[in-house]
Amino acid sequence: MNKSFKGINTICTHVGEVKDEQFKGAVSPIYMSSSYAFEDVDVKRYPRYFNTPNQEALSKKIAALEHAESALIFGSGMAAISHALMAFLKAGDHVLLQQTLYGGTYNFAVTQFEKYGIEYSFTEGWTVEDFEKKIKPNTKVIYIETPSNPLLTITDMEGVANLSKQHGLISMIDNTFASPVNQNPIDFGIDIVLHSATKYMGGHSDICAGAVVASKEHIHTIWESSICFGGSLSDQTVWLLERSLKTMGLRIKAQNENAQKMAEFLAYHQDVDAVYYPGLGSHPDHEIAKKQMNGFGGMLSFELKEGINASEFMKNLQLIKPSMSLAGVESTVLLPVLTSHSLMSTEDRAKQGIKDGLIRFSVGIEEVEDLITDIEQALAQLKSKKVLV
Ligand SMILES: *Cc1c(COP(=O)(O)O)cnc(C)c1O
Repeated sequence: MNKSFKGINTICTHVGEVKDEQFKGAVSPIYMSSSYAFEDVDVKRYPRYFNTPNQEALSKKIAALEHAESALIFGSGMAAISHALMAFLKAGDHVLLQQTLYGGTYNFAVTQFEKYGIEYSFTEGWTVEDFEKKIKPNTKVIYIETPSNPLLTITDMEGVANLSKQHGLISMIDNTFASPVNQNPIDFGIDIVLHSATKYMGGHSDICAGAVVASKEHIHTIWESSICFGGSLSDQTVWLLERSLKTMGLRIKAQNENAQKMAEFLAYHQDVDAVYYPGLGSHPDHEIAKKQMNGFGGMLSFELKEGINASEFMKNLQLIKPSMSLAGVESTVLLPVLTSHSLMSTEDRAKQGIKDGLIRFSVGIEEVEDLITDIEQALAQLKSKKVLV
């Protein structure tokens, strides 16, 4: 056997590919069959069983990227998250969720669990003690997100994994913001890793997909219930995602570097009040981030000085686009209050520290000088308008 652990860009480029035995093509052929023979074959293949040739190929690549045994690919990040949660929870169980959470996951918890008799609660912070305090006798799952959306809070993965083990719980993490390039939670003892592949894995704002990564045993448990729920992904998109992953290491390296420079630029800017980025020494959990991340990622958030209107500022940007989503090669911004966290009550947003003027910035691969120029001109326009008024 070859040494199983390879470097990130080698995994991205090669692991899992479907060999083209017939024509010796350079890339995986795409198999669009939704019907396969059931006689004389070892595997009963069917798209909803997550085992078409392309689904299996992509699962192998994603599992290798997360240093895990196995993976399943879903039709969206929320399909991956909801299928994983529902596979391990039943009526009477309790799930403990981190307070700072992606808006869609929060919405899933508050609108769905009750219908199935599943108890849930949120922590009041993201330290290990915050989780420990809220564990109940019927707790089954601990769910974390780090770095979190949109404030980039950092949760100690090893601490939470150890706590879960002590109490016999399943630990789950939403690893979307970090991507497998910047963070591999399985190495720190987390049981189940979830991704919205719509974001960094896809990376070009043209795919909706999700992934669950874990041990063979846990993936089998999820597979058994997921073939009932049926959230599998079309092979066409599976193939496109395999292609996207080939450049993920390179894309994210560039995004890490750009985000660090943009965070430093904004942190020293006279018109900026606060910057949230785990790569800054001023981030309260910078040390934990350093311990558990290989890179600090391409996402940051910031607040402009009082009196500078965030919406007006965003309208003036010419290169950086307003966008609902994130993690593409192009730089985008949004106001969480109007988009990702609009389903949350004002009170709950305030509890999380999400102010109305908070701007979430997904830093792309453009030249950083061009991004800085764009921000400077957008701020300058606001000032010149004020003078004219
Ligand atoms: C977008 C996102 C999701 C949901 O993913 P979809 O592919 O839109 O279903 C989950 N978690 C995080 C952190 C996200 O950014």
